[in-house]
Amino acid sequence: MIGLRCARLFDGDTMHHGRRTVVLDGGRIVGVGATDAPVVDLGDVTLMPGLVDAHTHLAFAPGSDIVGDMTSLPREVVLERMREHAGQALRAGITTVRDLGDRDYLAVELRDGSSALPEILAAGPPITTPGGHCWFLGGEVPADRSALADAVAERVARGVDVIKVMATGGSITPGSAAHESQYDFSQLSAIVEAAHSAGLPVTAHAHGGSGIRDAVRAGVDGIEHGTFLTADGAEPDWSTIRELIAARVYVGVTAGRLLTDAPPPPRVLAARAFLPEMQRSGALLVCSSDAGIISYKPHYCLPFGLTDFQQFTELSPAAVLTSVTRLAADSCSVGSRKGRIAPGYDADLLAVHGDPSQDLAVLRDVAAVYRAGVPVELG
Ligand SMILES: [Zn+2]
Repeated sequence: MIGLRCARLFDGDTMHHGRRTVVLDGGRIVGVGATDAPVVDLGDVTLMPGLVDAHTHLAFAPGSDIVGDMTSLPREVVLERMREHAGQALRAGITTVRDLGDRDYLAVELRDGSSALPEILAAGPPITTPGGHCWFLGGEVPADRSALADAVAERVARGVDVIKVMATGGSITPGSAAHESQYDFSQLSAIVEAAHSAGLPVTAHAHGGSGIRDAVRAGVDGIEHGTFLTADGAEPDWSTIRELIAARVYVGVTAGRLLTDAPPPPRVLAARAFLPEMQRSGALLVCSSDAGIISYKPHYCLPFGLTDFQQFTELSPAAVLTSVTRLAADSCSVGSRKGRIAPGYDADLLAVHGDPSQDLAVLRDVAAVYRAGVPVELG
């Protein structure tokens, strides 16, 4: 047993001011309060649940030729790169990552062999149409219900944690149009039925309005991006948004990024314009990163995008903290053991200097990280 004393505590939903001691035992949180166990005084820090990045690609090296790498690099090279990226995330306080697209189920392999890494949740190769978005990860499946059910079964047999489907095209794949659908409602339904009957959630990459609508109606658990892109802008479909709010579908807003001087392109700004109204209407906005896909999204970038995310969603700083801890854990189906400081929860913890409920930028000022109760070497 050990106690960690802090000046402030964020429990996943609420900021508590005043000194507190979080008691850990065997990788779990036992409680908050007095203890006879030895106490480590972390000083003037805020102790909070470790961040959960609900959308990463550990196999992608930021700024690299993704298609070239994924079609040519030997598996050992990719696996070593993934281990390095996972370590970068952990040292930034990201104690859980959900890999939403790897090659050869390497994230499953890394998950099962991991020690001193973040908790890894893996999708394996995303299900996509032949030649479709991220075809180069090896998950091409024809637009056919029985083939899609077989593809889900293969992923279940490989031990994935979530099924990822590319409901629409995407920007990083040459020749793919992000606003165009890849699978229709019936085909997406076949995926959801097969996954849910195996007890797995489904999250759908979806940019275009018809792809988002079909995925929500098919019963997916999450929508990645949810930008409502059109050929030249973005146009929200409020009837679909009302449906996804009613069905409590998580929306992964992949805003994690290093802040650069370059202003976001107009299409991205258009896709952010309706987020304040979405969150005020009750949409569950999870801030994640899509780390790896571009140079300014290294695998530690999640905390860097949060001030930006807070501004364009008009959430409070505390609600943003919830978005990257408790809500993100819920969205990854690990909300019963991750994302909160509460008895029985995994002792995955982040201590930062300052008060992130006043200024989210202090999340980049890491004082300590604990993974399963073990302090992480910050290097
Ligand atoms: Zn992605």
